Amino acid sequence: MRKTVRFNVVEMSGSRFDMGRQYGEQCRDLIADLVENFSAMLLPEEYLQEGREVAMEALPHVEREAPELIEEVRGIADGADLDFDEVFRLSCSQEMNSWQGCMRQRSTHTVVDNCTTIAAQREGSSLVAWNMDWWTRWQPYMVLLHGQPDDGPRFLSFAMAGSVGRPGLSEHISVSANFLPYRAAPEFAAGGAEWAGAGIPYSFMARMLLAQESTADALELLGRTKRMACLNYTLGDMGGEICCVETMPDDLAVLRPEDGFITHANSYHAPEFDGMTRDELAEKDPRAHRAWEVLSPRDKPLSLEDIYDAQRSHFPDEDTGVCVHRGGEKPMMTLLSFVGDVRAQTMWTAMGSPCEHEFLRYDL
Ligand SMILES: [Zn+2]
Repeated sequence: MRKTVRFNVVEMSGSRFDMGRQYGEQCRDLIADLVENFSAMLLPEEYLQEGREVAMEALPHVEREAPELIEEVRGIADGADLDFDEVFRLSCSQEMNSWQGCMRQRSTHTVVDNCTTIAAQREGSSLVAWNMDWWTRWQPYMVLLHGQPDDGPRFLSFAMAGSVGRPGLSEHISVSANFLPYRAAPEFAAGGAEWAGAGIPYSFMARMLLAQESTADALELLGRTKRMACLNYTLGDMGGEICCVETMPDDLAVLRPEDGFITHANSYHAPEFDGMTRDELAEKDPRAHRAWEVLSPRDKPLSLEDIYDAQRSHFPDEDTGVCVHRGGEKPMMTLLSFVGDVRAQTMWTAMGSPCEHEFLRYDL
């Protein structure tokens, strides 16, 4: 019997500042608690101060490309009664983690079991899915933002309390993402000390992508902006155009579906990034492969249930898999799973391990 647990939904509407203020007021204690612990969760003692400064270098990039999201950050800080900089940093978690991994030349430190994504074409539209995997310690801080801005499309976006968001669903598009080993550019191998500097952080980019009207517009946005971490973005729009976009700070590679669906986890697949072949994926990127293995034999188009099965799947004879359960010094898990049904304007979400929790409905 699977458990039924609903997400903490944060309702926000109106001007960007007002939306942020509503969010800050509704989550005041949670955000204050995360601000207290956030930097130390991400940065070792010797990198603490410099890492906090590195995160703030992203500010002019976001001010230029997405000033409306800076207004939201100002609103969150006002509503939660916190300093702007402390709240801004909450949207730079992946960047602080990538930077410190780069300084220590440990790309493996930035990518362990960090998310699996799936997209599928269905009935002329798209299903986009995400397993968000990270340290179990993040779980109490996860919220679901339901935004109705005066000046943009409605959206549902997951967030660590106080950050502007992560993947989700909007009126035209659904977005999921997974971390990639940090590479400053295609010519540099993963795990080096080269750092490409500031750009748009992942949390802001996720929200910027959710404001697009199509996958084509999202690709255009990714093509003209510099980013601050390496991620694969998995996109699907109302018209059924799906793809994965592997991104480095200034470079990207687009992967198109085979047989109407696509899966991705934490390695480069694109030939132009010397990505892995299908045979290599089985061994070296087993979650992307496992999801593909579950979905490949199913009748097409894939259904919601097919995708849930992939998201819940473990490796044969193991108790971890696409649905991650990992112990050790910093335990990790699949913190949440969702499937965004763009045509239905609905997101189906399991809070906690999807093998133990039901997918519940959240309407846009
Ligand atoms: Zn599981």
